[in-house]
Amino acid sequence: MTRHEATYYAQRTMFTPDHELYRSSVARFIADKIAPFHAKWEEDGLVPREIWRAAGEAGLLLPGIPETYGGGGGDFLHSAIVVEEIARALVTGVTGFTTHSENVAPYLLEFGTEAQKAEFLPKMASGEVVGSLAMTEPGAGSDLKAIRTSAVKVDGGYRLNGQKTFITNGYHADRVLVFAKTNPAAGARGISLFWVNATAQGFSRGRLLDKVGQKAQDTAELFFDDVFVPDDMLVGERNAGFGYAMSGLVRERLLIAMRCATALEVALEWTLTHVKQRRAFDKSLIENQFIRFKLAEIKTHSCATRAFVDSCLAQYLDGTLTVDGAAMAKFWASEATRAIDDLMQFFGGYGYMREYPIARAYTDVRPNRIYGGSSEIMREVIARAL
Ligand SMILES: Cc1cc2nc3c(=O)[nH]c(=O)nc-3n(C[C@H](O)[C@H](O)[C@H](O)COP(=O)(O)OP(=O)(O)OC[C@H]3O[C@@H](n4cnc5c(N)ncnc54)[C@H](O)[C@@H]3O)c2cc1C
Repeated sequence: MTRHEATYYAQRTMFTPDHELYRSSVARFIADKIAPFHAKWEEDGLVPREIWRAAGEAGLLLPGIPETYGGGGGDFLHSAIVVEEIARALVTGVTGFTTHSENVAPYLLEFGTEAQKAEFLPKMASGEVVGSLAMTEPGAGSDLKAIRTSAVKVDGGYRLNGQKTFITNGYHADRVLVFAKTNPAAGARGISLFWVNATAQGFSRGRLLDKVGQKAQDTAELFFDDVFVPDDMLVGERNAGFGYAMSGLVRERLLIAMRCATALEVALEWTLTHVKQRRAFDKSLIENQFIRFKLAEIKTHSCATRAFVDSCLAQYLDGTLTVDGAAMAKFWASEATRAIDDLMQFFGGYGYMREYPIARAYTDVRPNRIYGGSSEIMREVIARAL
């Protein structure tokens, strides 16, 4: 049956009524506890530490981690919902919730010891412990195997030396999952993961980095000066860290793709509202063929993006999403957000004012083409599997 009157949206059939209930509670928490304060936090350059506790209490942290470890006990769709609702409300100051819940915690769950999981996952779920993930260094980003931070074996543990940069949650982090070389001669096969205590002697943070957008998200440099990490804070097998990173990136890239699909949808909605209301030359902006054709094009791209990303999400749920599939989802969806530049144009001068969400979308959605593997690296990953 065709519905002539209705507006087309890519159908989403995976989310159950229970998921939608969870979505409502996440959206409500964001609307009440985050959105009204976000502009102030952008001025401060970071969110207050207490918001982590509140988010933990409201069930926004570690939604997909089993309840036995203090998590929400949900599935990957619960994780997707938090990512999507943060994107929908454009509260990019808490992008780090995703790093914490969906990048850091899964490493511990999958590769950590029982003691590490029992001690840290409940604290991460409550917001008592904030986690961050430190791969990138001043001299190595795309090329993870080129990192230079070293972890040298000593009696009872390791000594870490090196520097990390662009680390999300870097300022608030209580614990950092650090990628370091345990066998520098072995390249990719000489990298290990350490769960480093931010109060350890020799650990320090640099300044909050002044980013183009995502102004309320703390992003920092981290320094390791002979930091002692006890043996029981090695995560997973020694020298197996590169393989762990590659498996973690499938999940991370899919989540970035979902974030971008949502960001494009909402940016289009704001724009449609604007061009229907705003008048120039005695007619509303949408009555101009150039603008309506451009919006028709973007709407089509947005729906195609959602459909493709959801099909990758379905594959992830049944365990069949490949590395190149996740790379395509991230590549396609993050590149599709280039359309936000065109959407911003239709706001005229208002589009350049940060009080308008479209202006913040322009700056805050941009890094999705860079982190989690840049678009160039995505092309490389996809090309390798051709
Ligand atoms: C806001 C933000 C938050 C971040 N959060 C984190 C975090 O929490 N933890 C973390 O570890 N990192 C984080 N990063 C770092 C991010 O993952 C890296 O910036 C990214 O991987 C790129 O690395 P790079 O900056 O060193 O660029 P480079 O690797 O130096 O690359 C520079 C350019 O060259 C291109 N390039 C590189 N190699 C190739 C190639 N073989 N072929 C073609 N082109 C190539 C790249 O695509 C890029 O365009 C964050 C970055 C940003 C901007």
